Amino acid sequence: RNPVLAARAVMLESPHVLLAGDSADAFARERGLVLVDSAYFGTPERLEQLRRVQRERGTAPALDHDGADRVAHAAAKAGQHAPLDPDTKHGTVGAVACDVHGHVAAASSTGGMTNKRPGRIGDTPIIGAGCYASDRTAAVAATGTGEAFLRGVAAYDVSALMEYAGLSLQQACARVIHDKMPALGGSGGLVAVNARGEVAMPFNTDGMYRGEVRPGSAPVVSIYR
Ligand code: ASP
Repeated sequence: RNPVLAARAVMLESPHVLLAGDSADAFARERGLVLVDSAYFGTPERLEQLRRVQRERGTAPALDHDGADRVAHAAAKAGQHAPLDPDTKHGTVGAVACDVHGHVAAASSTGGMTNKRPGRIGDTPIIGAGCYASDRTAAVAATGTGEAFLRGVAAYDVSALMEYAGLSLQQACARVIHDKMPALGGSGGLVAVNARGEVAMPFNTDGMYRGEVRPGSAPVVSIYR
């Protein structure tokens, strides 16, 4: 039911990095984690969204989340007024954290992209593409068109730019999101924190739901630039 708990169990209680399929379910069950049928994750709204994208695009996944997107127009006509068009926004929930000892961590969970082909694996679970953490550089969790983030090994690229090219967290994140990803056809963004607690949350889209919390200050949430 909570993939991040299963991921944490793999990290802490197995010698492995990534388990998939039935064996991953068995591993989670053995550790007493709650398993649910896939139907648990379905909602009528998301099902209707899928049907609408299928009507509009056939088998093509909904990648584009520009305001000019055809599906966005259809949603607007249907009277949906979410700040970001729900049909075309990316839906990954990513979290990065830094503790008082300068240890960083990242976790990420996604339903993928609307109307994707069954069996398609995106960037989110792939360490280095959609998610990465190193105390030497930063923790990074990405959202966006997964194929581009996979091809560009985006999350690790932030770390590599810091480690090998000496870029700051902000510079490395900007290079990946504003230069490298668009060149690969990738729209999206990322959240990142380094071992000093500096935060970067760049995106090359209209907006990105995001938030930040530090001890002693009120949480800050943002949508647009
Ligand atoms: N990156 C995710 C994927 O491609 C989608 C998302 O961020 O919403 O599966």
